[in-house]
Amino acid sequence: MWYFIRPDAVSALEDPKVIEALPRYVDVVKNKKLAKFRICRLIPVEISGDESTEELWNIHKKLINEYIKLEKELDEGKPIPLETPKFSLLHLKATIAQRIMRSCILCERRCMKNREKGELGYCKVGKEMLVSSYFDHMGEEPEIVPSFTVYDF
Ligand code: SF4
Repeated sequence: MWYFIRPDAVSALEDPKVIEALPRYVDVVKNKKLAKFRICRLIPVEISGDESTEELWNIHKKLINEYIKLEKELDEGKPIPLETPKFSLLHLKATIAQRIMRSCILCERRCMKNREKGELGYCKVGKEMLVSSYFDHMGEEPEIVPSFTVYDF
């Protein structure tokens, strides 16, 4: 659909400067490669939930090598597994992000507030985030159309 709305975005994917600057992005949009978050979803992780944040980071660090290997294999044509694990590297990343919210340094403000307990930092966002809208944005620069856009309150 977006091809018809923004033909300039289709042309941008053939622009050598765009291909040079955003090689993987262009391949993902053209369905030649998997997006990185999708590769993360394919890597199984086993944790009990009792691990410290440092232990979770250590597990994450070890799995990055597995991620690099799988990305290379998939880029070279290995078939995409049909089954996804119940708990994956993507879930692990989300779990670590939730842990960071306990002393929030998710942005450059580094407020160190415990958002899980409802403390509010500069952004005034606690444990839950209210989203006012989300949609495929067609108004960005041609190189990044469509962009999935999320607006909070
Ligand atoms: S502004 Fe919000 S997201 Fe950023 S560090 Fe502070 S509490 Fe975290």
